[in-house]
Amino acid sequence: MSFKVTLIPGDGIGPEVSSAAQRVITASRAEIEWEVVEAGETCIAQYGTPLPDHVLEMIRRNKVALKGPITTPIGKGFRSVNVALRKQLELYANVRHLRNLPNIPSKYDNVDIVVVRENTEDLYAGIEHMVGRDAAESIKIITREASERIGRYAFELARREGRKRVTIVHKANIMKLSDGLFLESVRSVARDYPEIECDDRIVDAMCMHLVQIPEQFDVLVLPNLYGDIVSDLVAGLVGGLGVAPGANIGETGAVFEPAHGSAPQIAGKNLANPLAMILSGVEMLKYLGFVKEAQLVEKGIEHVLKQRDYITPDLGGVSGTKEMTDAIIEAMSNIG
Ligand code: NAD
Repeated sequence: MSFKVTLIPGDGIGPEVSSAAQRVITASRAEIEWEVVEAGETCIAQYGTPLPDHVLEMIRRNKVALKGPITTPIGKGFRSVNVALRKQLELYANVRHLRNLPNIPSKYDNVDIVVVRENTEDLYAGIEHMVGRDAAESIKIITREASERIGRYAFELARREGRKRVTIVHKANIMKLSDGLFLESVRSVARDYPEIECDDRIVDAMCMHLVQIPEQFDVLVLPNLYGDIVSDLVAGLVGGLGVAPGANIGETGAVFEPAHGSAPQIAGKNLANPLAMILSGVEMLKYLGFVKEAQLVEKGIEHVLKQRDYITPDLGGVSGTKEMTDAIIEAMSNIG
Protein backbone atom coordinates (compact mmCIF):
# COMPACT_ATOMS: atom_id res chain seq x y z
CA MET A 1 0.00 0.00 0.00
CA SER A 2 1.35 3.43 -0.83
CA PHE A 3 0.70 6.72 0.98
CA LYS A 4 0.97 10.37 0.08
CA VAL A 5 2.62 12.33 2.90
CA THR A 6 2.94 16.10 3.30
CA LEU A 7 6.51 17.20 4.03
CA ILE A 8 6.97 20.64 5.64
CA PRO A 9 10.72 21.41 5.70
CA GLY A 10 10.37 24.21 8.32
CA ASP A 11 12.73 27.04 9.35
CA GLY A 12 16.33 27.22 10.58
CA ILE A 13 17.81 23.71 10.60
CA GLY A 14 14.44 22.37 9.42
CA PRO A 15 15.33 22.00 5.71
CA GLU A 16 18.59 20.14 6.55
CA VAL A 17 17.04 17.64 8.97
CA SER A 18 13.90 17.23 6.82
CA SER A 19 16.02 16.37 3.81
CA ALA A 20 17.90 13.82 5.95
CA ALA A 21 14.64 12.18 7.11
CA GLN A 22 13.21 12.13 3.60
CA ARG A 23 16.35 10.45 2.22
CA VAL A 24 16.45 7.82 4.98
CA ILE A 25 12.74 7.00 4.66
CA THR A 26 13.07 6.71 0.90
CA ALA A 27 16.02 4.35 1.45
CA SER A 28 13.81 2.16 3.69
CA ARG A 29 11.72 1.47 0.55
CA ALA A 30 8.47 2.39 2.27
CA GLU A 31 6.06 3.33 -0.49
CA ILE A 32 5.64 7.01 0.24
CA GLU A 33 4.98 9.80 -2.21
CA TRP A 34 6.05 13.17 -0.82
CA GLU A 35 4.13 16.41 -1.29
CA VAL A 36 6.43 19.21 -0.14
CA VAL A 37 4.92 22.49 1.07
CA GLU A 38 6.34 25.49 2.96
CA ALA A 39 5.00 26.87 6.24
CA GLY A 40 6.59 29.29 8.70
CA GLU A 41 8.68 32.44 8.22
CA THR A 42 9.20 31.93 4.49
CA CYS A 43 5.43 32.13 3.82
CA ILE A 44 4.82 35.49 5.46
CA ALA A 45 6.05 37.68 2.58
CA GLN A 46 4.05 35.74 -0.02
CA TYR A 47 0.85 34.86 1.85
CA GLY A 48 0.80 37.26 4.81
CA THR A 49 0.60 34.31 7.23
CA PRO A 50 3.03 31.59 8.34
CA LEU A 51 0.28 28.98 7.96
CA PRO A 52 -1.60 29.50 4.67
CA ASP A 53 -4.90 27.66 4.17
CA HIS A 54 -3.52 25.51 1.35
CA VAL A 55 -1.07 23.91 3.85
CA LEU A 56 -3.89 22.91 6.17
CA GLU A 57 -5.96 21.65 3.23
CA MET A 58 -3.06 19.52 1.98
CA ILE A 59 -2.51 17.94 5.40
CA ARG A 60 -6.26 17.29 5.75
CA ARG A 61 -6.25 15.61 2.33
CA ASN A 62 -3.14 13.47 2.91
CA LYS A 63 -3.95 12.91 6.62
CA VAL A 64 -0.27 12.51 7.51
CA ALA A 65 2.57 15.06 7.58
CA LEU A 66 6.24 15.05 8.54
CA LYS A 67 7.23 18.51 9.69
CA GLY A 68 10.52 20.25 10.44
CA PRO A 69 10.75 22.79 13.29
CA ILE A 70 9.22 26.24 12.77
CA THR A 71 10.43 29.43 14.46
CA THR A 72 8.00 31.25 16.77
CA PRO A 73 8.84 34.84 17.75
CA ILE A 74 8.84 35.36 21.55
CA GLY A 75 6.45 37.88 23.17
CA LYS A 76 5.30 39.47 19.88
CA GLY A 77 4.82 38.66 16.19
CA PHE A 78 2.83 35.75 14.74
CA ARG A 79 1.37 33.00 16.94
CA SER A 80 2.97 29.59 16.96
CA VAL A 81 2.37 27.64 13.73
CA ASN A 82 2.91 24.47 15.73
CA VAL A 83 0.14 25.31 18.21
CA ALA A 84 -2.15 26.45 15.35
CA LEU A 85 -1.63 23.19 13.43
CA ARG A 86 -2.45 21.08 16.48
CA LYS A 87 -5.57 23.16 17.14
CA GLN A 88 -6.86 23.39 13.57
CA LEU A 89 -6.36 19.69 12.87
CA GLU A 90 -7.55 18.60 16.35
CA LEU A 91 -4.28 16.74 16.94
CA TYR A 92 -5.16 16.07 20.54
CA ALA A 93 -2.34 13.73 21.58
CA ASN A 94 1.31 14.74 21.65
CA VAL A 95 3.32 11.57 21.98
CA ARG A 96 7.04 11.16 22.58
CA HIS A 97 8.78 7.81 22.76
CA LEU A 98 11.98 8.49 24.69
CA ARG A 99 14.51 5.75 25.28
CA ASN A 100 18.26 5.42 25.58
CA LEU A 101 20.10 4.83 22.32
CA PRO A 102 23.57 3.25 22.07
CA ASN A 103 26.49 5.61 22.78
CA ILE A 104 24.32 8.69 23.28
CA PRO A 105 25.79 10.45 26.33
CA SER A 106 23.26 10.25 29.18
CA LYS A 107 23.28 9.79 32.95
CA TYR A 108 21.02 6.73 32.59
CA ASP A 109 21.05 3.64 30.45
CA ASN A 110 17.65 1.98 30.76
CA VAL A 111 15.07 4.71 30.28
CA ASP A 112 12.12 3.79 28.05
CA ILE A 113 9.26 6.21 28.67
CA VAL A 114 6.32 7.33 26.53
CA VAL A 115 5.08 10.83 27.35
CA VAL A 116 1.45 11.37 26.29
CA ARG A 117 0.51 15.05 26.53
CA GLU A 118 -2.96 16.55 26.03
CA ASN A 119 -2.49 18.97 23.16
CA THR A 120 -5.61 21.11 22.82
CA GLU A 121 -6.48 22.87 26.07
CA ASP A 122 -5.11 23.84 29.51
CA LEU A 123 -3.23 27.17 29.64
CA TYR A 124 -2.35 26.69 25.95
CA ALA A 125 -5.94 27.45 24.90
CA GLY A 126 -4.48 30.96 24.35
CA ILE A 127 -7.18 32.77 26.36
CA GLU A 128 -5.31 35.59 28.05
CA HIS A 129 -5.73 39.32 28.52
CA MET A 130 -4.36 42.29 30.41
CA VAL A 131 -6.20 43.38 33.54
CA GLY A 132 -5.34 47.04 33.54
CA ARG A 133 -1.74 47.88 32.67
CA ASP A 134 0.08 45.92 35.30
CA ALA A 135 -1.58 42.53 35.52
CA ALA A 136 -2.20 39.75 33.02
CA GLU A 137 -4.59 36.83 33.25
CA SER A 138 -4.37 33.48 31.45
CA ILE A 139 -7.26 31.04 31.66
CA LYS A 140 -6.70 27.33 32.22
CA ILE A 141 -9.30 25.16 30.50
CA ILE A 142 -9.69 21.48 31.40
CA THR A 143 -12.70 19.49 30.17
CA ARG A 144 -13.88 15.98 30.99
CA GLU A 145 -14.18 15.16 27.28
CA ALA A 146 -10.58 16.07 26.39
CA SER A 147 -9.21 14.49 29.57
CA GLU A 148 -11.01 11.18 28.95
CA ARG A 149 -9.90 11.24 25.30
CA ILE A 150 -6.20 11.63 26.19
CA GLY A 151 -6.56 9.08 28.97
CA ARG A 152 -8.02 6.55 26.55
CA TYR A 153 -5.24 7.29 24.06
CA ALA A 154 -2.60 6.60 26.75
CA PHE A 155 -4.19 3.31 27.85
CA GLU A 156 -4.77 2.13 24.26
CA LEU A 157 -1.10 2.90 23.50
CA ALA A 158 -0.02 0.98 26.63
CA ARG A 159 -2.15 -2.03 25.58
CA ARG A 160 -0.92 -1.92 21.95
CA GLU A 161 2.74 -1.68 22.94
CA GLY A 162 2.52 -4.22 25.78
CA ARG A 163 3.39 -1.61 28.40
CA LYS A 164 2.59 -2.27 32.05
CA ARG A 165 1.83 1.02 33.73
CA VAL A 166 0.27 4.44 33.12
CA THR A 167 1.08 7.29 35.54
CA ILE A 168 -1.27 10.30 35.62
CA VAL A 169 0.63 13.55 36.35
CA HIS A 170 -1.24 16.54 37.86
CA LYS A 171 -1.33 19.21 40.56
CA ALA A 172 -4.78 18.37 41.88
CA ASN A 173 -3.76 19.15 45.46
CA ILE A 174 -3.67 22.86 44.51
CA MET A 175 -5.85 23.11 41.38
CA LYS A 176 -8.57 20.96 42.85
CA LEU A 177 -11.16 21.69 40.17
CA SER A 178 -9.17 21.76 36.90
CA ASP A 179 -6.43 19.22 37.65
CA GLY A 180 -8.89 17.35 39.88
CA LEU A 181 -11.15 16.88 36.84
CA PHE A 182 -8.20 15.69 34.73
CA LEU A 183 -7.22 13.13 37.36
CA GLU A 184 -10.77 11.90 37.92
CA SER A 185 -11.43 11.63 34.15
CA VAL A 186 -8.29 9.61 33.37
CA ARG A 187 -8.89 7.39 36.40
CA SER A 188 -12.40 6.64 35.12
CA VAL A 189 -10.93 5.48 31.78
CA ALA A 190 -8.35 3.31 33.60
CA ARG A 191 -11.15 1.02 34.84
CA ASP A 192 -11.54 -0.30 31.26
CA TYR A 193 -7.90 -1.49 31.28
CA PRO A 194 -7.59 -3.72 34.36
CA GLU A 195 -4.41 -5.39 33.07
CA ILE A 196 -2.52 -2.05 33.11
CA GLU A 197 -1.43 -0.58 36.44
CA CYS A 198 -2.58 3.01 36.94
CA ASP A 199 -1.10 5.38 39.50
CA ASP A 200 -0.65 9.14 39.78
CA ARG A 201 1.98 11.67 40.84
CA ILE A 202 1.95 15.37 41.65
CA VAL A 203 3.98 17.08 38.92
CA ASP A 204 6.73 18.49 41.15
CA ALA A 205 7.34 15.13 42.86
CA MET A 206 7.20 13.51 39.41
CA CYS A 207 10.08 15.69 38.20
CA MET A 208 12.20 14.65 41.18
CA HIS A 209 11.37 10.95 40.70
CA LEU A 210 12.17 11.19 36.98
CA VAL A 211 15.62 12.53 37.77
CA GLN A 212 16.22 9.96 40.54
CA ILE A 213 14.57 6.76 39.26
CA PRO A 214 13.51 7.24 35.63
CA GLU A 215 13.75 3.54 34.82
CA GLN A 216 10.71 2.88 37.04
CA PHE A 217 8.31 4.78 34.75
CA ASP A 218 6.56 3.53 31.65
CA VAL A 219 3.73 5.67 30.15
CA LEU A 220 3.01 9.16 31.54
CA VAL A 221 -0.21 11.05 30.74
CA LEU A 222 -0.35 14.79 31.44
CA PRO A 223 -2.31 17.97 30.72
CA ASN A 224 -0.76 20.31 28.15
CA LEU A 225 1.56 22.56 30.20
CA TYR A 226 3.07 19.87 32.46
CA GLY A 227 3.34 17.64 29.38
CA ASP A 228 5.33 20.27 27.52
CA ILE A 229 7.79 20.67 30.38
CA VAL A 230 8.08 17.03 31.45
CA SER A 231 8.55 15.79 27.88
CA ASP A 232 11.67 17.98 27.53
CA LEU A 233 12.85 16.79 30.95
CA VAL A 234 12.55 13.15 29.82
CA ALA A 235 14.27 14.04 26.51
CA GLY A 236 17.15 15.29 28.68
CA LEU A 237 17.31 11.91 30.43
CA VAL A 238 18.00 10.11 27.14
CA GLY A 239 20.49 12.53 25.57
CA GLY A 240 18.66 15.75 24.75
CA LEU A 241 16.48 17.32 22.11
CA GLY A 242 18.72 16.20 19.24
CA VAL A 243 17.48 12.60 19.71
CA ALA A 244 13.85 13.18 20.79
CA PRO A 245 11.15 12.38 18.23
CA GLY A 246 7.55 13.55 18.48
CA ALA A 247 4.09 12.97 17.09
CA ASN A 248 0.82 14.89 17.20
CA ILE A 249 -2.05 12.50 16.69
CA GLY A 250 -5.75 13.16 16.03
CA GLU A 251 -8.81 11.06 15.17
CA THR A 252 -8.26 11.46 11.44
CA GLY A 253 -4.64 12.48 10.94
CA ALA A 254 -1.21 12.99 12.40
CA VAL A 255 1.75 15.36 12.17
CA PHE A 256 5.17 13.97 13.10
CA GLU A 257 7.91 16.38 14.16
CA PRO A 258 11.09 16.43 16.25
CA ALA A 259 10.97 17.81 19.79
CA HIS A 260 13.66 20.39 19.05
CA GLY A 261 13.20 23.84 17.57
CA SER A 262 14.72 25.56 14.54
CA ALA A 263 18.13 26.12 16.25
CA PRO A 264 18.89 29.30 14.23
CA GLN A 265 22.48 29.50 15.59
CA ILE A 266 23.53 26.39 13.67
CA ALA A 267 21.17 26.65 10.66
CA GLY A 268 22.69 26.13 7.22
CA LYS A 269 26.01 24.93 8.65
CA ASN A 270 25.57 21.17 8.22
CA LEU A 271 25.90 20.82 12.03
CA ALA A 272 22.38 19.74 13.03
CA ASN A 273 21.84 16.28 14.42
CA PRO A 274 19.28 14.66 12.08
CA LEU A 275 18.29 11.86 14.50
CA ALA A 276 15.22 13.46 16.14
CA MET A 277 13.76 14.21 12.72
CA ILE A 278 14.62 10.75 11.34
CA LEU A 279 13.17 9.09 14.47
CA SER A 280 9.99 11.16 14.00
CA GLY A 281 9.92 9.63 10.52
CA VAL A 282 10.27 6.19 12.14
CA GLU A 283 7.21 6.92 14.30
CA MET A 284 5.39 7.93 11.11
CA LEU A 285 6.38 4.70 9.36
CA LYS A 286 5.00 2.66 12.29
CA TYR A 287 1.78 4.71 12.28
CA LEU A 288 1.34 3.97 8.56
CA GLY A 289 2.00 0.26 9.11
CA PHE A 290 5.52 0.17 7.61
CA VAL A 291 6.88 -1.76 10.60
CA LYS A 292 9.71 -3.62 8.81
CA GLU A 293 10.85 -0.42 7.12
CA ALA A 294 10.83 1.38 10.49
CA GLN A 295 12.93 -1.39 12.04
CA LEU A 296 15.44 -1.14 9.19
CA VAL A 297 15.91 2.58 9.86
CA GLU A 298 16.29 1.90 13.60
CA LYS A 299 18.96 -0.72 12.91
CA GLY A 300 20.80 1.67 10.57
CA ILE A 301 20.81 4.35 13.29
CA GLU A 302 21.99 1.89 15.97
CA HIS A 303 24.85 0.75 13.72
CA VAL A 304 26.06 4.32 13.13
CA LEU A 305 25.78 5.18 16.84
CA LYS A 306 27.68 2.06 17.90
CA GLN A 307 30.45 2.71 15.36
CA ARG A 308 30.72 6.43 16.25
CA ASP A 309 32.60 7.26 13.02
CA TYR A 310 29.89 9.51 11.59
CA ILE A 311 28.15 11.45 14.35
CA THR A 312 27.39 15.15 14.69
CA PRO A 313 29.20 17.53 17.12
CA ASP A 314 26.35 17.56 19.70
CA LEU A 315 26.98 13.80 20.13
CA GLY A 316 30.74 14.28 20.45
CA GLY A 317 31.59 13.64 16.80
CA VAL A 318 32.93 15.76 13.95
CA SER A 319 30.62 14.73 11.11
CA GLY A 320 28.00 16.87 9.42
CA THR A 321 24.25 16.31 9.09
CA LYS A 322 24.71 15.03 5.56
CA GLU A 323 27.60 12.66 6.36
CA MET A 324 25.73 11.12 9.30
CA THR A 325 22.66 10.65 7.09
CA ASP A 326 24.80 9.04 4.35
CA ALA A 327 26.24 6.65 6.95
CA ILE A 328 22.76 5.63 8.16
CA ILE A 329 21.65 4.96 4.58
CA GLU A 330 24.84 2.97 3.90
CA ALA A 331 24.29 0.89 7.06
CA MET A 332 20.68 0.23 6.04
CA SER A 333 21.73 -0.98 2.61
CA ASN A 334 24.24 -3.40 4.21
CA ILE A 335 21.59 -4.72 6.65
CA GLY A 336 18.63 -4.86 4.27
P1 NAD B 1 15.98 24.75 19.91
O1 NAD B 1 15.52 23.35 20.10
O2 NAD B 1 15.90 25.29 18.54
O3 NAD B 1 17.50 24.88 20.43
C1 NAD B 1 17.89 24.60 21.77
C2 NAD B 1 19.37 24.17 21.77
O4 NAD B 1 19.49 22.87 21.20
C3 NAD B 1 20.26 25.08 20.91
O5 NAD B 1 21.52 25.14 21.52
C4 NAD B 1 20.34 24.34 19.59
O6 NAD B 1 21.50 24.65 18.84
C5 NAD B 1 20.32 22.89 20.05
N1 NAD B 1 19.69 22.00 19.06
C6 NAD B 1 18.38 21.88 18.78
N2 NAD B 1 18.17 20.97 17.84
C7 NAD B 1 19.38 20.48 17.52
C8 NAD B 1 19.81 19.49 16.59
N3 NAD B 1 18.95 18.81 15.81
N4 NAD B 1 21.14 19.23 16.50
C9 NAD B 1 22.02 19.88 17.28
N5 NAD B 1 21.66 20.82 18.19
C10 NAD B 1 20.36 21.12 18.29
O7 NAD B 1 15.12 25.65 20.93
P2 NAD B 1 15.00 27.23 21.03
O8 NAD B 1 16.33 27.86 20.80
O9 NAD B 1 14.28 27.46 22.30
O10 NAD B 1 14.00 27.61 19.87
C11 NAD B 1 14.40 28.12 18.59
C12 NAD B 1 13.15 28.36 17.77
O11 NAD B 1 12.48 27.12 17.50
C13 NAD B 1 12.12 29.25 18.47
O12 NAD B 1 11.59 30.13 17.52
C14 NAD B 1 11.06 28.27 18.96
O13 NAD B 1 9.78 28.84 19.05
C15 NAD B 1 11.10 27.23 17.85
N6 NAD B 1 10.59 25.89 18.26
C16 NAD B 1 9.85 25.22 17.37
C17 NAD B 1 9.39 23.95 17.67
C18 NAD B 1 8.57 23.22 16.65
O14 NAD B 1 8.59 23.58 15.50
N7 NAD B 1 7.83 22.21 17.04
C19 NAD B 1 9.73 23.36 18.90
C20 NAD B 1 10.53 24.08 19.80
C21 NAD B 1 10.96 25.36 19.46
